Amino acid sequence: MNSQSYITHSEEEMVALGERIAHMLPRPAVILLSGDLGAGKTTLTKGIVKGLGAAEPEEVSSPTFTLIHEYGDPTSVYHIDLYRLDQARELATLGLDEIFDREAVVIVEWADKFPQWMPSGHLAIHITDSGGQRTVTLSGIPLSPEGPQS
Ligand code: ADP
Ligand code: MG
Repeated sequence: MNSQSYITHSEEEMVALGERIAHMLPRPAVILLSGDLGAGKTTLTKGIVKGLGAAEPEEVSSPTFTLIHEYGDPTSVYHIDLYRLDQARELATLGLDEIFDREAVVIVEWADKFPQWMPSGHLAIHITDSGGQRTVTLSGIPLSPEGPQS
């Protein structure tokens, strides 16, 4: 599958990369983020949310306990973290299918725990940390350098 990789060396570079990704993203879109705890998934999300104009990075925090955060008014970005969910039964109570159907950008951390629940037409972003250097690999749906088609 076609994939692109980017390297970032700081939190600031990670946020800036998220903004660039936001500008190339089709709408609506589902983004599935994978990578170890601390890899930078929430940090990249801060940049994506900023790039979409939905909130400032300081306003974006990990939905580890609340599971879903919404940004924008009206809501244009859903940020979901499945880290604390262990059973598909709990997942069923979240109403994910309904969220995936919205005219929004839906960003999911730890989606790889429940792959069969995720829509097939998604942007997959995998982050690895090797010696402080983060490699961010994008695959799945194509991104347009000219920005989203409307
Ligand atoms: P995750 O959501 O994958 O668990 P976070 O986004 O919360 O990870 O990031 C964990 C820590 O790593 C944060 O302190 C963040 O500032 C830092 N960080 C994120 N991206 C980078 C990067 N590219 N280089 C160095 N540190 C980073
Ligand atoms: Mg996180």
